[in-house]
Amino acid sequence: MSQTDMNVFEQLESEVRSYCRSFPTVFTKAKGYKMWDEAGKEYIDFFSGAGALNYGHNDENMKKALVDYIMDDGITHSLDMATTPKGKFLQKFHDVILKPRNLDYKVMFPGPTGTNTVESALKLARKVTGRTDIISFTNGFHGMTIGSLSVTGNSFKRKGAGIPLTNVVTMPYDNFVSESLDTLDYLERFLEDGGSGVEIPAAMILETVQGEGGINAARTEWLQRVEKICKRWGILLIIDDVQAGVGRTGTFFSFEDAGITPDIVCLSKSIGGFGLPLAITLFRPELDIWAPGEHNGTFRGNNHAFVTATEALSYWEDDSFEKDIQEKSATISDFLVKLVTEYPEIKGEVKGKGFMVGIASDVEGFASKVTEEAFSRGLIMETSGPNDEVFKLFPPLTIDDEGLEKGLAIIEESIKALVETKELVMQ
Ligand code: PMP
Repeated sequence: MSQTDMNVFEQLESEVRSYCRSFPTVFTKAKGYKMWDEAGKEYIDFFSGAGALNYGHNDENMKKALVDYIMDDGITHSLDMATTPKGKFLQKFHDVILKPRNLDYKVMFPGPTGTNTVESALKLARKVTGRTDIISFTNGFHGMTIGSLSVTGNSFKRKGAGIPLTNVVTMPYDNFVSESLDTLDYLERFLEDGGSGVEIPAAMILETVQGEGGINAARTEWLQRVEKICKRWGILLIIDDVQAGVGRTGTFFSFEDAGITPDIVCLSKSIGGFGLPLAITLFRPELDIWAPGEHNGTFRGNNHAFVTATEALSYWEDDSFEKDIQEKSATISDFLVKLVTEYPEIKGEVKGKGFMVGIASDVEGFASKVTEEAFSRGLIMETSGPNDEVFKLFPPLTIDDEGLEKGLAIIEESIKALVETKELVMQ
């Protein structure tokens, strides 16, 4: 096979491209937790399409269902018309996910991206409450369109808006200031005191584990208290589960352990199962005051994604998948704890939860160097955090023991190599 010249991307594609700079090769094939480039080099994928490939690449059952559907001339595009795959998805999502968890939510299909489900959630919260402001949290990440950017913390991304981002108040996330300060004492004072300058908002929006903002996992007690505060003040609680949802933290929804019930939930990325675009917004039925078409979009009814999403839900029909994720999470977590103990030079701190973890290093540039080293050794992994200070482990949830061990070994080799060169560490 002739190989694609990298210059094609450099010359023809916009400067905005990013991942192809971090992983400078041309990929051509993928299966499960493996990817291959055009030169035939094999990579272990600890990136999982930034959380869009929780079930790995080209899952056999999803692929078969999709190919059969296409070969049968099933409907591809239909806006939000009623179609067979949409009906099947709605029914199975209700039976396998919502009902067993006692969740009574209506399902909305916004445009098929994470940012679009967030936009729909913000709009609905404002419409229901008649209020304009939203409380967001430091280091939150919610997407690149104006509403989602307004509730995103990262200053570089915010600047990209080119206009003031308004009607949002940012409050400190759990542990943002110090371990001893409960940030919710601070937040609640602002709500209580008429002199604070902060109005009661329509909603609070947050991730239970911040995926882009540094793999910060909020404590269970913190999440429970957020829910209480929202109830006390009649504020809607929006959980953005675009990245942390669909099993990433060990349960289907990331908030299950905390026992909270958000008013609105945003899902995208892995809900389509196969890496196909799909997003859903879930909300309590009483909040469903949308007028028909009030939030619409051409690509809401992505039937191919409904086919694979429905197949993907089979993973959740009993608790074996969840148990497997939780067992493997323990292996990953033990490994990370061992790394920070054995390599004190990296000044590392273990972050995150489940299959959404990483190590934050106080050594400048270290996390990026680890991902570079790992890539040269055949492992794909990205960084997270406002200064790229965290290297982030995001393997597919379906990875087997062998793949996991190989990937973890590459991380250790990469760290060892960096520590030995003494180029970065120990200033
Ligand atoms: N919310 C969260 C928590 C995300 O991690 C992301 C994407 N990284 C988004 C929203 C935006 O999703 P998309 O890129 O599909 O618009």
